[in-house]
Amino acid sequence: MTINNSEGETRPLYFEDAYLQEFKARVVERKIREGFPVVVLDRTAFYPESGGQPHDLGWLNEVRVIRVEEENGCILHFLERELPDDEVYGKIDWERRFDHMQQHTGQHILSQAFYELVRGETLSFHLGQAESTVEIGIPSIKDEVLQEVEELANRIVFSDLEVKSYFLSEEETDSIPLRKLPKKSGMIRVVEVDGFDYSACGGTHCRRTGEVGLIKILRQEKIRGNVRFSFVCGFRALREFENRRRWLQATARLFSAEESETFACAEKNLNELRNLKKRVKKLEEKLSFYEAREILAQNRSRIISGYFKDKSPEEIKFLALNLVHQADVMAALAADREGGFHLVLASADALKVDVREVMPVLQAKMPLKGGGSSTLVELVSPEKDRAQEAVKTAVEFFERKVSGS
Ligand SMILES: [Zn+2]
Repeated sequence: MTINNSEGETRPLYFEDAYLQEFKARVVERKIREGFPVVVLDRTAFYPESGGQPHDLGWLNEVRVIRVEEENGCILHFLERELPDDEVYGKIDWERRFDHMQQHTGQHILSQAFYELVRGETLSFHLGQAESTVEIGIPSIKDEVLQEVEELANRIVFSDLEVKSYFLSEEETDSIPLRKLPKKSGMIRVVEVDGFDYSACGGTHCRRTGEVGLIKILRQEKIRGNVRFSFVCGFRALREFENRRRWLQATARLFSAEESETFACAEKNLNELRNLKKRVKKLEEKLSFYEAREILAQNRSRIISGYFKDKSPEEIKFLALNLVHQADVMAALAADREGGFHLVLASADALKVDVREVMPVLQAKMPLKGGGSSTLVELVSPEKDRAQEAVKTAVEFFERKVSGS
């Protein structure tokens, strides 16, 4: 199969042979783009970014190719530095390309499997660095149907079907069941997974479905009223399996359990933790009653204050409430919290002091957020090292209230 490219256009060798890794070519044009030297060759095996498939990387002589783009039939090779030679020896990063071929061919198979089983059309395809995605035009899918889709796709892989590509005129494409009508007019490049899928596509593909390797759907999410599926193929599926095996094994070791028991173990532990937290909260509430009694027994002042590094915001709230319930006092208590400190201000009903009045005084000094009632406010500040200053300011305010000034 040959392609007749017009004058000045680059001959895309990857159309003729997607497995071509090395080639000789001539520089026909030089440009500077976005500060990078760019060359156009008479022919190239470098695939430009297109149709959801990322561009190739590689070398022209000793110079690295860092990006490849198509522009009006010319293929632009972005280089890391100037390339002085006119005759070049090109070499593509085959590992990257073959990975793209596995993901891309896998996508054709998966897209047709979705079409065959749920009449879901592929609306978009993205080949990402770690995973690829297809957006399928269906509102939702049942788990068991998704499993069937995955199974059909992998059956096609294991059948090791031939993947062919050929050019047809627009009229000729009427005779084949193209999965999607092409956007381009004129000669259409058809990629056929032998009798299973016919797509108009300009990408690079494996020559047999067996080379794609395992196709594994990882997750789904709703998007624009459709469903987007993330998937991996080939070596990516193998690496994904290995990563998950490690995580699962490490988790099983944590629980001293079999891998198959980790979910049940995690669920049981989380339930226990939830119940323990509830019990701890109740105990803290009880404890703060006695703690308040002890503090009041040792303290004759109307104002109780403190900065408790070892207490949680919840605990100082319980303590403040207990203090003002057990005696006619005011309390200004602070504790550390994630990303700052927590301040609780409380006053016994009988004192008729509105603790909210202290908020603007504090806020004039430091950033503080929060609020509450006239007898209890809770405030949060990101400035951890100013907790003591905040307590002191509140105490001074209370002292003025007590002295009636
Ligand atoms: Zn394709």
